[in-house]
Amino acid sequence: MIYLDHNATTPLDGRVVEAMLPFLKSFYGNPSSLYRHGRLARSALDTAREQVAALVDANPAAVIFTSGGTEANNLALASLPAACRLAIAATEHPSITEPAKRLSRQGHGLSIIAVDGNGLLTEAALSQLMGFQPTLVSLMLANNETGVVQDVAAYAGQWRESGIIVHTDAVQAAGKIPVSFKRLGVQMLSLSSHKIYGPKGCGALVFDKSVPINPLIVGGGQEQDLRSGTENVAAIVGFGKAAELAKTELAERGKHLLGLRTLLEANLEAIPGLSMFAKNVNRLPNTVQFGIDGVDGEMLLMKLDKKNIAVSSGSACASGGGQPSPVLMAMGVNPTLAKSAIRISLGIANTEAEIVQFIHVVKDLVSQA
Ligand code: PLP
Repeated sequence: MIYLDHNATTPLDGRVVEAMLPFLKSFYGNPSSLYRHGRLARSALDTAREQVAALVDANPAAVIFTSGGTEANNLALASLPAACRLAIAATEHPSITEPAKRLSRQGHGLSIIAVDGNGLLTEAALSQLMGFQPTLVSLMLANNETGVVQDVAAYAGQWRESGIIVHTDAVQAAGKIPVSFKRLGVQMLSLSSHKIYGPKGCGALVFDKSVPINPLIVGGGQEQDLRSGTENVAAIVGFGKAAELAKTELAERGKHLLGLRTLLEANLEAIPGLSMFAKNVNRLPNTVQFGIDGVDGEMLLMKLDKKNIAVSSGSACASGGGQPSPVLMAMGVNPTLAKSAIRISLGIANTEAEIVQFIHVVKDLVSQA
């Protein structure tokens, strides 16, 4: 199979599996137990916390392990004090938009920050936002569909000066571009393990102690009393290893991915009626999203699947619904063109030969359409 859907999920790195195996087979102790077997698991969690913190240039004590990016995003928004105002960008992932809508139904103020044709915040929306006086702003660092990278650092500084709490969803950015919690100047940042060649069902919220986090799950007091429940030790160990590898190999991975993306884009240009979304702005080195006039995205996806090529027609969650992607709608893309969207998200094991093969198959399928 030619797998080109790494923003949906990544395969486990073999080195991550090796790191996890002892914690699945032998070291089953509960990290809260005081005897040696428990202390061993605790020390593995400490190491993973350091590895995850290092990936995003944060203090290990700032890392709360969660069940994934979705929980980290929900936890971040749950820190909103009662009867306060929340602002989110129009292109956020459903794990932000859905809890935001729920908060709004519960009586919090909600403002959706408009984006331009490239998915970047508009000046007009930014000044409207200041008028709205939010308590918390959530702005994703990189978009899962288009790969567009927002200048979070530039906005966060200004917002924090106005006393606003800033959260960023860095689930897609981490491991693909350098991410520094300190330099971004945000107070909360979400991560997910399975987007960086780690196991599924594991993630983290990185937070500044000044933010009054409101736990979603209460119980035994694990994770600084902010996320109770016996830790998923093997998964956290795997996440830690994946983070360590992502940090040490970041430059090399970025170069490889950008090389493949450049080859892909140069070849896509030659397909009649094809438009690439957010083509000329800063995007993740692994992501390209495009639409082709007169082609249905999901039909093309299924035809590619028959040729053993895996791509996405938008975000994993939005696909299958038959609706054009809300991200592309927010960018003002024509709904018919948006319904033709295909997202390619490259991974570290992809090769030039696979890109050439993909282009060959797409050209063939489009010419038959
Ligand atoms: N945020 C973004 C931008 C994502 O792309 C995803 C997953 O697709 C998530 C959050 C949710 O992460 P998880 O799958 O770990 O719950």
